[in-house]
Amino acid sequence: MASEFPEHFKVTALAAGRRVERLAEQAREFGVSLVSVERKEDAARVRELIPGVEIRWGKEGLLEIALSQRVDMVVAALVGAAGLPSTLSALEAGIDVALANKETLVMAGELMCAAAKKSGASILPVDSEHSAVFQALAGHDAAAVKRIILTASGGPFFGRSKESLKEVTPEEALAHPNWDMGRKISIDSATMMNKGLEVIEARWLFGLDAHSIAVTVHPQSVVHSMVEFADGSIIAHMGVADMRGPIAYALGYPDRLPLSGMALDLGRMGALTFAEPDLDTFPALGLAYDAIKEGGTMPALLSGANEVAVESFLAGKIGFADISEVVSRAMSGYIPVKVDSLEAVLEADRVSRVRAGEAVKNINS
Ligand code: MG
Repeated sequence: MASEFPEHFKVTALAAGRRVERLAEQAREFGVSLVSVERKEDAARVRELIPGVEIRWGKEGLLEIALSQRVDMVVAALVGAAGLPSTLSALEAGIDVALANKETLVMAGELMCAAAKKSGASILPVDSEHSAVFQALAGHDAAAVKRIILTASGGPFFGRSKESLKEVTPEEALAHPNWDMGRKISIDSATMMNKGLEVIEARWLFGLDAHSIAVTVHPQSVVHSMVEFADGSIIAHMGVADMRGPIAYALGYPDRLPLSGMALDLGRMGALTFAEPDLDTFPALGLAYDAIKEGGTMPALLSGANEVAVESFLAGKIGFADISEVVSRAMSGYIPVKVDSLEAVLEADRVSRVRAGEAVKNINS
C-alpha cells in the first residue's frame, strides 16, 4: 500500500520476527530509520544489511516501534498474543491502530476498547469480514442494527464429514481455496476457529452481544460480510478476495484509495450460496461462542490454547480433529477472572499454554 500510494503514506518504523532479509529489503525500499527484530542475535545481521538504521529487539523493541515519534497510525499485524502489549500501548498513547491481529482483541477486548475510548484513538479493522461490516455500518445509527452476519468460506474441508477429517495432513489443511494467508490463520480457517475468533473480535469492534453476531458459510468468498438492520434490510459488502481491499480501507479511512485489479466480474461470478455452519464437524466455532458466554479471561484462554494446538498439529504431534479437542480440554474446568489489567490477560495466556500442553500430551498417551 505504501509503495502504491507514496503520496499518502510514509513508513517510519518496521518490526519483524526472524525474516531479517525481508525486513532489510522493506526498510531500504521505504527509507525506514527504526527497525525491530524478535531476537537480539539477529540485530548484527540487520546492521550488516542496512547500515545506519536504528535497531531494537524483543518485546521492548516492539513497544518502541509502536510508540515511535510522529506516527499517525500503527499497523498491527503480528500473529497471536505476541502483538498484545505493543498494540495496547499504541492505543493508550492515542495512536490509531489498523488491526490485522485479531487475537489481541480476542484476548483483551475490554482493555483495548477502554484504552481507545480514553485516548480517542481508533481501532480500524483490517480483517476482511470486519472491514466489510465497518463499511456497511457507515452512516447508520447503532440502534438500527439488528445483527451482523459474518461470512465464512468454510475452508478447505467444507462439506466433509467429521470422520473423514481425522487423517487430514497439515499440507491439506494449509491449502485454502480462496485466500492466500499465513500458516496459523490457514489452519484456523480449516477448523473454523478463525470464524470463532472473528465473532469475538466483532463483539468488541462493534459493541454487540454474541446473539447479535451470526455466521453463514459462503464458499465463494464474494460477500465479505453483512449487516442486518431493524427493518429487515441487509447491506452486504462484495468484492474480490484480496486483502489489499480491507488494508486500503483501514489505512485510507475515511477515503477510498483507487486500487487497481480489484474489479469484481459479475458476469463470471456464478451462483452465490449461503449455508448454516456445521458445528458438529467444526466444534471450534461453538467453543468461541462458549468463551464469550463465560467471559473474562476465557477468550484469552481459548486463543492461547488454540495457538498451542495449531503449532502441535503443524509439528505432527496431534491430528486435525484434536485441535478443537485440545482447546476444549484446556477450557474445561478453567475459571475465568476479570480482564482488568494486561497482567490478568498475560497470566491467562500463560495458563492456556500449560493447559493446552497437558492436553496435547494426554491425547497421545
Ligand atoms: Mg477474516
